[in-house]
Amino acid sequence: MKLFDVYPINDITIVKAKGSYVWDQEGQQYLDLYGGHAVISIGHTHPHYVQRITDQLNKVGFYSNSIHIPLQVELADKLGKISGRPDYQLFLCNSGAEANENAMKLASFHNGRKKIVAFSKSFHGRTSLAVAVTDNPAILAPVNQTENAVFLPFNDVEALEEYFKAHGDEVSSVIVEGIQGVGGINEASAGFLQAISHLCKQYNAVFIADSVQCGYGRSGKFFSQDHAGIDADIYTMAKGMGNGFPVAGIIIAPHLKPKFGMLGTTFGGNHLACAAALAVLQVLDELKKIPQLKKVRGKGLMIGFDLPESLKDLRKNLLFSQRIFTGEAKPNTIRLLPSLALRKKDADEFLEAIQEEIHAMEAAAVK
Ligand code: PLP
Repeated sequence: MKLFDVYPINDITIVKAKGSYVWDQEGQQYLDLYGGHAVISIGHTHPHYVQRITDQLNKVGFYSNSIHIPLQVELADKLGKISGRPDYQLFLCNSGAEANENAMKLASFHNGRKKIVAFSKSFHGRTSLAVAVTDNPAILAPVNQTENAVFLPFNDVEALEEYFKAHGDEVSSVIVEGIQGVGGINEASAGFLQAISHLCKQYNAVFIADSVQCGYGRSGKFFSQDHAGIDADIYTMAKGMGNGFPVAGIIIAPHLKPKFGMLGTTFGGNHLACAAALAVLQVLDELKKIPQLKKVRGKGLMIGFDLPESLKDLRKNLLFSQRIFTGEAKPNTIRLLPSLALRKKDADEFLEAIQEEIHAMEAAAVK
């Protein structure tokens, strides 16, 4: 049997990957600035990630959603915290298209309406509704064509307002990427996202923030739509969520109520997928997990944390023992302001070095 030939592939076979690098069969090293299509969030084969998935596989890899899966509850709790939306509800699935499919379906169950507003150059996936709201006729099969999908120009507040004025009562949901990925890296303006939020509230439509590619911290905030200071009703997530393990999800505002059987999946939220997603969040959260560092704060590559009195020399020790420059703010704050070209490998080295230094200082203090 041959493979179904749908991918125009590069003539390269990757056999090894670590951090931001991959290697082919000949041992040639490549710098990976693509992450397998925005998937690798914490670096290839991160040791904590590998360990956690391996441990889980040795316990239980899969069981269906007919039993308690405490890992899902733990994941919901962590996602609520890191996204700043602890009152939202989590539904887990397996891919970005599936996440969007479930979001649009849930919106329609909620308000009983059919029209979905999407925008020029959007990409939301290749399954039925997801591809119907994707602005690319070349991948829309006749069976996926539907009058329920309406396309408006991206970032055009006036066109949006006009459409809502005329048809607002028919709109079930509006789906938008915070930064369009496949469409060519186009940012939704804050004003545009705010208008969507406002109109959805006014007309009881559901605001779906597709964060499959632009989410999970990639933009410096957990969801790129957060830069506009708004709350969507549903956020869809996939790619970076599992660092390569197929796991996806939607988080749902509290006013959207669940009903048994409304959504469902065989594989979604299985033990291994949750272990992968939890490992990713743990690594993203790593600085916060060094208990000696207090009040870790900041965004993207502008991070600060406070030191207890006992570690006030940490900054000096990082420089002279570990050869790492950091910034300070009085009295006891370390400021991290690395170049935007910081590599995952460099961040990992820093985390290792700071822990080593803290342990050394604590051991010296005991003597
Ligand atoms: N939404 C966005 C914004 C995407 O970029 C993609 C994939 O590129 C999808 C949805 C579909 O995700 P998946 O390929 O996991 O179905």
